[in-house]
Formats: sequence, structure tokens, C-alpha cells
Amino acid sequence: MAKRDYYEVLGVSKGSSAEEIKKAYRKIALKYHPDRNPDNTEAEDKFKEAAEAYEVLSDQDKRARYDRFGHAGMRGGSGGAHVDMEDLLRNFENIFGFGDVFGGGGRGGGGGQRRRGTGQRGNNLRIRVKLSLEDIAKGSQKKVKVKKHLVCEGCRGTGAKDASSYSTCSTCAGQGYVRRVTHTFLGQMQTTGTCPTCNGSGRSISSHCTVCRGEGRAYGEETITIDIPAGVSEEVQLSMSGKGNAGMRGGPAGDLLISIEELPHESLKREGKDVVYTLYINFADAVLGTNIEVPTIAAKAKIKVPPGTQSGKIFRLRGKGLPALNSYGTGDQLIEVNIWTPKNLSSEEKALIEKLRNMSNFQPTPGKNDKNFFDKMRDYFS
Ligand SMILES: [Zn+2]
Ligand SMILES: [Zn+2]
Repeated sequence: MAKRDYYEVLGVSKGSSAEEIKKAYRKIALKYHPDRNPDNTEAEDKFKEAAEAYEVLSDQDKRARYDRFGHAGMRGGSGGAHVDMEDLLRNFENIFGFGDVFGGGGRGGGGGQRRRGTGQRGNNLRIRVKLSLEDIAKGSQKKVKVKKHLVCEGCRGTGAKDASSYSTCSTCAGQGYVRRVTHTFLGQMQTTGTCPTCNGSGRSISSHCTVCRGEGRAYGEETITIDIPAGVSEEVQLSMSGKGNAGMRGGPAGDLLISIEELPHESLKREGKDVVYTLYINFADAVLGTNIEVPTIAAKAKIKVPPGTQSGKIFRLRGKGLPALNSYGTGDQLIEVNIWTPKNLSSEEKALIEKLRNMSNFQPTPGKNDKNFFDKMRDYFS
């Protein structure tokens, strides 16, 4: 089928201004808008044709190309092969800033058929889950009892007493939508919108469910199993869609938003993916070296403290930290050595230490290669 001339489609002359073209398009689009012509494929075609013409003529470059080469110059553009009606409608509403006047949200199917019987969406629900370092390391499943609005069991969310409790909505005569006249800056416009009385269902409830008094939901408790991935932290919020409060009269449920609270570990401290352990050893062990057991997240690990270990030395146990949440790799465990200085010595102990005090090997001789505070911090976070 040969394409009609775009100027002809919009009923404007070749020299018309952008404003004239917009005006003409608006007029035609409103005339053939699917909301006004339900199940009318001829109108739908006209609407599409006008949208295509407007797309070209409203764009300076495309219009210039079209003026020179006609339809042949438009190849590769929106050749009209498959035009998505939803997109066209959205564009149309964007161009004229109508927003929601055509009923808003949830255009169901094609042909102007509206989504029916949608109640109000339930609110999101926030809970807090406490996790130990072990939970975070392995990932865990937590069963949580949540107090919230549940779908009413008496009416399964409909709010009606039983199947015979419905009558036709009087506001919209069962249509589910109402026509109304809206005043926009472009003038008066007749639009259709979801019926406010029945929310689009076309029915009204003559006798309400006695359990929920027509709300379709009731307060209760649900046990929810939450899958917690390994490596989460307090900065992360998890969510489970549809696990929040039930909606009103069959509306969709809100989401469950889960924030994490990290429980302190008795001896390990988390630093991002790493865990840090502060090890105290006595002076003799530092001097002579020793093997020592340290806690890790999973089990105890043995580390070797070599002779002559300085206070502040950091040992690293590779892979003994926490897994990364959204990437590969596992953190390390860092062990910071501190030398324990004894207090309250007996006179015998004092005498021994006194003997050592002035020996030449006991004098601090920091070498060039000994790490200072900043070197250690760099090690720590590398
Ligand atoms: Zn009920
Ligand atoms: Zn109604």
C-alpha cells in the first residue's frame, strides 16, 4: 500500500509552521485516539499514520530529508513496519503533557480495553534482621515472623461477603471507566478515566465481608523465609517483592524491605571484606617466637609467630575473611600483634626485668625497613 503524503495526512500545507503541524496532529490524534474509538482498527491505523507523519514533520532534520526525497528518504527511520501502539500513546501523551488524563497506569492489552478490578496497592514493610559474622560469611536463611496486613481469608481479598454480594456500579453503569471533560491549556477535552467508585471493576459490593468489613485484608502474622546472601552488610537493603502489606480489595501487595544489623563478634571485627583480630602475645613469645592459635570465622587457625616479632606486626590469613557480595573473591583475616606489657610485678620478676633492662640487645634500634604507622595502614587496607 502506497504511503500517503505526510502533509496530506495531517492536513497541512508544505510551508506550515511547527506550531500549525502540532495543532493539526493534536486534532487528528484526539479524533482517532483509541480511548474514543475502542476496537476500531480503522481509527487505530489513522492514529498510527498521524503519529508517524508527526514524528517526521516535527523533526527539522527529518522534515528536510522528507521534503527532498519523499518517503524514500525515510528508510531506516520508523518505516512503520511494526509500530508499537503503547509507545505511540505514551509519546502522544508526552507531547501534549496530558499525563494521566486518559486513565493513567496499567493500559491493559490493546483496543482500549482497561485493566479491571484493581484495588489499592499495599504499603511496603520494613524489617530489620540481625546477623552474626558467621551468618554473613556463609549466607543464611532466616525465618521471620512479620506482623502485617494479610489477604482476608473470609473473602480472599475481594471485600465481598459472597458471590451474590455484587451489583453493577451505578457511577459507570458497569463500564469500569467514566468519561469526563478536562480543561487543559490546549482547550477542552473529553477523556476517559478509571471509575473512581469501583476502581475499574464495574461492580460495587452490596454486602461486605464481615471479617474485614470490605477492606479485603486483615491484620495478622506471616512467617517469611528470607534468603540472605553471603557478604551482606549494613549498607545493603534487601527486598522481597510482594511480601509487604496486602493491598486493599485485591490490590497488589507491597514489598518487604529488609535492613541488616550486624551483631558484634566476640573477638573479630569486620573491615569490609576483611576481618581483623587483635592478638596479644607476651614479651618472651615475641622475642623467642611461638606457635599460637587464633580464632577465625570458621574455626581456629594456628599461626607461627617468628622470633623477634615486633609489636604492631600484621599477619594476613588469605581467604579467611568474608565473600564479596556481588563479585568474586574473599577477604582476608588480618592479625595485628600487640606485645602485652605486664603490670603489678613481684619483686622477683622485677629483679629479672631489671637485669634485662640495660642489656645492649634490649635497646630499641628501629631499622630503615621497619614499617611506620602509615606503612602499616597501607598494608592493612591493601
Ligand atoms: Zn474479607
Ligand atoms: Zn464504576
